[in-house]
Amino acid sequence: MHNGILYIVATPIGNLQDITLRAIEVLKSVDYIACEDTRKSGILLKSIGMQTKPMLVSFYEQVEQLRTQNILNLLQNGRDVALISDSGTPTISDPGFRLVRQCLREDIKVVSIPGPSAAISAIVSSGLPTDKFIFLGFLPRKEGHRTTALKNVKEANKKLEATVVIYEAPHRLIKSLNSIQSVFGNIQITLMRELTKIHEERISDFVENIIQKYEKQAPRGEYVILFNPKTNEE
Ligand code: SAM
Repeated sequence: MHNGILYIVATPIGNLQDITLRAIEVLKSVDYIACEDTRKSGILLKSIGMQTKPMLVSFYEQVEQLRTQNILNLLQNGRDVALISDSGTPTISDPGFRLVRQCLREDIKVVSIPGPSAAISAIVSSGLPTDKFIFLGFLPRKEGHRTTALKNVKEANKKLEATVVIYEAPHRLIKSLNSIQSVFGNIQITLMRELTKIHEERISDFVENIIQKYEKQAPRGEYVILFNPKTNEE
């Protein structure tokens, strides 16, 4: 029996219309869809006219290791599986990398179905240089680790002068901005908020001003933080 194919399918980051024709075709054709939150994915699948016919397999961070083996078994039994996440491109600050690695080790074909990712959407409309960027994903939660990570980035980026791209949850935004200020000083940063959604917003200011603003009114929604050491000197 032939192995099935694992498809890594990007889905919208807020606006349900941001799904490609190919993504729809693949989602409709596979035997199983591995997803983080079956309820959220159910909404997406309904929006493209699908019922829950292809079996949904829940695949989130806490069960990633266990489910990787289950999904591998399905693929080895000739079933095609699509991996999706709650938003954007699976495996980018989302589970799935280990599954992909394991599939490749087992000679199972992995096909990427490209589409939205918040990091790319954020950088292209931020006005910051796009030729080189460093994507940090989420910063470490512990303050000490966060500061060390940022210091390392500052050192590594001295000559590179790449745009730095960071994901952050609203309830940790102020903490991360404080760490950025403590390592880089009062630099200009850009926040891309609620991309592709009704309240999409670009906020560009000195980090200290942004911290002050959010201390008065707590941050809400989804954010990408960006800055570039070079543009801070221009
Ligand atoms: N896999 C996703 C991708 O390809 O972008 C990222 C998933 S990660 C768990 C979620 C983080 O992505 C959020 O905390 C936020 O930093 C960023 N993000 C996702 N959607 C966003 C949006 N519509 N606007 C701004 N940031 C977003």
